[in-house]
Amino acid sequence: MTWSERDQQVIWHPYTQMQTAPAPIGIVRGEGASLFDEAGNSYLDATSSWWVNIHGHAQPYIAQKLAAQAMQLQHCIFAGYTHPAAVELAERLLPVLPGRQSRVFYSDNGSTAIEVALKMALQYWENKGIRKQKILAFNHAYHGDTFGAMSVSSRSVFTAPFDDLLFEVHFIDTPTPDNLPQLKAAIESLGPDSIAAFIFEPLLQGAGGMLMYEATALDQLLQYCKQQQILLIADEILTGFGRTGKNFAMENVATAPDIICLSKGLTGGALALGVTTCTADIYDAFLSESRLKTLFHGHSFTANALACTVALASLDLFLQPECAQQRDRIHAQHQQFLQRLAAVGTVKHTRLLGTVLAFEIITSGQDVYTNQLADELHRFFRAKRIMLRPLGNTLYILPPYCITNEELGRVYESILEFVERT
Ligand SMILES: *Cc1c(COP(=O)(O)O)cnc(C)c1O
Repeated sequence: MTWSERDQQVIWHPYTQMQTAPAPIGIVRGEGASLFDEAGNSYLDATSSWWVNIHGHAQPYIAQKLAAQAMQLQHCIFAGYTHPAAVELAERLLPVLPGRQSRVFYSDNGSTAIEVALKMALQYWENKGIRKQKILAFNHAYHGDTFGAMSVSSRSVFTAPFDDLLFEVHFIDTPTPDNLPQLKAAIESLGPDSIAAFIFEPLLQGAGGMLMYEATALDQLLQYCKQQQILLIADEILTGFGRTGKNFAMENVATAPDIICLSKGLTGGALALGVTTCTADIYDAFLSESRLKTLFHGHSFTANALACTVALASLDLFLQPECAQQRDRIHAQHQQFLQRLAAVGTVKHTRLLGTVLAFEIITSGQDVYTNQLADELHRFFRAKRIMLRPLGNTLYILPPYCITNEELGRVYESILEFVERT
């Protein structure tokens, strides 16, 4: 039996209707921007394996550092004990983050980084004896799948079975130069004094449909929130580590976040790790002779030494000038392709931010048809041995930075072939 056949006896896959989904492809090896299946076919990973991979698969430098660390220390309890990889990663990460971040809190993944951020923000006010419990978020937001993270995400088919159990969150539109007065009025009517925090994905809403919005309007909205003493939680889980061009999306705005969430590209996509950072002001509100002001949160694998080591290795590669050059190169390639794409009658809303390109395929607008289109797109690119996963009728390219121009060309030509025949 193949891995794919054996999988079908024992595995339950994420976001997958197991009754109707096609058999999974068994991947046995990765190299650069490609993954190889058990029959030896290669697949070009044009979406970075769910947006996590930045330097390519089975990256040798990361693999060496990981192997060496595995011989030294793999994991140890992180309360009352510490280890070099966790300390060094925090020391090196804090200075490169926007907004004078002063402390690192480790967890396991993006959703847990969000849970920690929400607890930090809510307990910050609690510890100060100020009653503020409302949370503000954007329409179309996605911050993860655990209950707190689901609560601050837009309600959708993904949250529907649980909607009654999610805590209340106030959603506003993403800012444009025109709607700022309305957004401020909406915040005003909620009573800014009662809003603990505003959580947002800066410039790019990934799971919400690769939606992009502009930095100037965001900055004005953030400035207003700051004036109203609303804590700013920047979810850079997707946008961090260069996806939007700059190292972090928050480098595009002048207003400093109070809390930043990181995961995905943090380890270059090789291991699971989450980080929540905060300013000294947030951290100080938890310092007390009383244990009641403690942040009572942790996970068994908090600050796993292997994951921290891999994150350090990824940071080494990320901070080399070659990495920024690769991102600029991808952006320039995308820009040329966008011009060709914009001329095709069957696509709309072509957009580009850093290394992320997205557009919609025009459909008759019926949901049923959109789903059919997603299946059709899936089949088409699978046959072309290109990994692209549409979000409804939105197609996007979000490649690892090591992807070559030739490989990008293959993705572009396949997309054109599809949209020109639609
Ligand atoms: C993926 C993602 C998350 C959740 O991260 P997981 O590691 O999948 O739990 C949160 N926020 C954003 C913006 C994401 O893209």
